[in-house]
Amino acid sequence: MGRIRILPDQVANKIAAGEVVERPASVVKELLENSLDAGATDLRVEVESGGRRLIRIADDGCGMLRDDALLAFERHATSKLRDVQDLLSIATLGFRGEALPSIASVSRLLLETRSAEETTGTRIEIAGGRMLRCEEAALGGGTVITVRDLFYNVPARRKFLRTEQTELAHIASLVTHYSLAHPAKTFLLASGATELLHVTPVATLKERVYQVFGNQVLEELVEIGMRERALAMPPAPAAEAEPAEPPARLFRLTGFFSRPQVQKANRNSIFVFVNGRLIRDRLMLHALSSAYYNLIPPSSFPFALLFLECDAEEVDVNVHPSKTEVRFRHGPFVHDFVRDTIRERLIESRPAPAFTPAPRPRSPGAQPAAGLPYSEFSQALANEEPAMGPSVEELRPAGAAAPVAALDPAPAADGLAGAPEFTLRPPAAPAPRLDFTGPPLEVTPGPPPSGKLRRHLDAHGEFPADALPPPEMSLSVLSELRPLGQIHESFIVAAGRDGLWIIDQHVAHERVLFEQVMKQRAAGRVEMQRLLMPLIVQLTAEQQIDYARIADELHASGFETEPFGQRTIAVKAAPAALGAANVERILFEILETVEGEAPGATLEDLRRGICASIACRAAIKINTRLDAGKMEWLLRALAATDCPMSCPHGRPIALHYATRDVLKAFHRI
Ligand code: ADP
Ligand code: MG
Repeated sequence: MGRIRILPDQVANKIAAGEVVERPASVVKELLENSLDAGATDLRVEVESGGRRLIRIADDGCGMLRDDALLAFERHATSKLRDVQDLLSIATLGFRGEALPSIASVSRLLLETRSAEETTGTRIEIAGGRMLRCEEAALGGGTVITVRDLFYNVPARRKFLRTEQTELAHIASLVTHYSLAHPAKTFLLASGATELLHVTPVATLKERVYQVFGNQVLEELVEIGMRERALAMPPAPAAEAEPAEPPARLFRLTGFFSRPQVQKANRNSIFVFVNGRLIRDRLMLHALSSAYYNLIPPSSFPFALLFLECDAEEVDVNVHPSKTEVRFRHGPFVHDFVRDTIRERLIESRPAPAFTPAPRPRSPGAQPAAGLPYSEFSQALANEEPAMGPSVEELRPAGAAAPVAALDPAPAADGLAGAPEFTLRPPAAPAPRLDFTGPPLEVTPGPPPSGKLRRHLDAHGEFPADALPPPEMSLSVLSELRPLGQIHESFIVAAGRDGLWIIDQHVAHERVLFEQVMKQRAAGRVEMQRLLMPLIVQLTAEQQIDYARIADELHASGFETEPFGQRTIAVKAAPAALGAANVERILFEILETVEGEAPGATLEDLRRGICASIACRAAIKINTRLDAGKMEWLLRALAATDCPMSCPHGRPIALHYATRDVLKAFHRI
């Protein structure tokens, strides 16, 4: 007798569940996707114990006919595909017909549904894949699916679940992001009696971002608007005879991304949707980090909310059981489109950083923030439950820059001479951001001060409200700044139309030189300076190999070098910007950077790396006195750069203290 047998459905479903249902959030994802596919406009998610004890999703979608409701729990039963051809152009979120049977095989599931076409609804109860009950029931329209005791019959899986708080954070992240993908729909997420998210329909993504994250986060983001790029397609052979336009496919990118000053320690704040589907995709992540290249440190990540829309035939969504990965038919095209669009918008908007004013006190009764960057959400929860593991700050790799710096009166801890009164430190834990009861987009002025405070203000003179300039959101104003002096001979203090600016003179000059060298490099005309005597540099065997690899590039960047005996090179000329004394050091520095370089690094990366090293060495140092003329020159030169917001290593250049914040700090508004 043969040894191979076909597994019973119940076993097969449990195996599929291993891939489809990783954790409670995967159940929420599959059920939400089903509701969205069913055309629901009102989606309510209720969970208990981080989804382990209960997950209930109620929608107002099309519901299921009685027969369909029964079929839905069969393996590969779906209403979304008919034949193999359909697989090439999937427009729904689901298509595999695996989710419901998989979930039902590892939980106790109750389905209540009624289609508008039937007068009575259907109630089906299943536990561990076994049908317990199927009956008619008087139900409203739409579908309610209740999943209890997830993994009750798979103890091994249950053990792998993280703390309830972590699982809840994953769920919150997911629901919030689907709510961002569908601003016109209502989403509710409740954990027990606590409402974590409740958003009502709005017209634009921007308003939804405001509902979810609050104004403060919105201010840190740049909106992409709507950008398109067409991919020319080779004409179909049949159509060759026709002189019609060559066919083209349109790719569309919308969404938000953070200013370079917002730097996250991990990728948890990057959310990418392709045709409405939330995915994790290396190509898109790479495109995003390339856009920020030289704007934020390589070990930091931005916040991003990207929506890519394209022809369904351009993406293969059938590459992963939980449908979280996709494959693009024209990957390089998509990559470059995303990278260029974000880079262009970053350069166009030249977003200005701002000092974060002192953290606002929590409003009474505030709920835990589903401040959505998931990591922050878990941190907000962590504040309430200390046993959550390391915080976001602790996870930040050593040396990585902190997010938006806050000016904080605290004793100096770092290397500047003297006893500075200020240090730059990362802001305190994020303030709660999910305030759905908050004011609408416009900030309404509070009631006029009365009594004692009124008299006090009078005595101190009042700041005419209309004299307040509009808040400065762009660095284009840099050229109009009036330098007032330096702090510690390192930071230029300048007055502008809207408040006070502090500019790090070293990184500002670094940015100016970097762009200058890059431009010269692109034009093939890097200014060189002949050294009086060739400089002989001794290399290690490893450096020798790296040197051979990048010799041409070094030459094009202004270093004239040639081999000079074993493991020794002679440098005859160097970029004009560099002092002769720096040449050896910078060569070693360049060799060191290429040594650690990822194998996939491109020539462009190398080029930028070399230019960044030159710029850094040649730039004005901190602790250098500058006269007014030099300061003014530097500000003008900085204003003329493409990216005045961060240095080539990704550190911020200019901090802005808006008049509004000055007024707030003096309690004048
Ligand atoms: P898929 O989504 O891949 O088709 P599922 O197992 O998730 O597979 O669902 C099976 C089928 O059940 C769907 O194709 C759909 O017809 C139906 N269905 C599931 N959830 C809902 C819902 N909330 N409202 C209406 N129909 C639903
Ligand atoms: Mg589905």
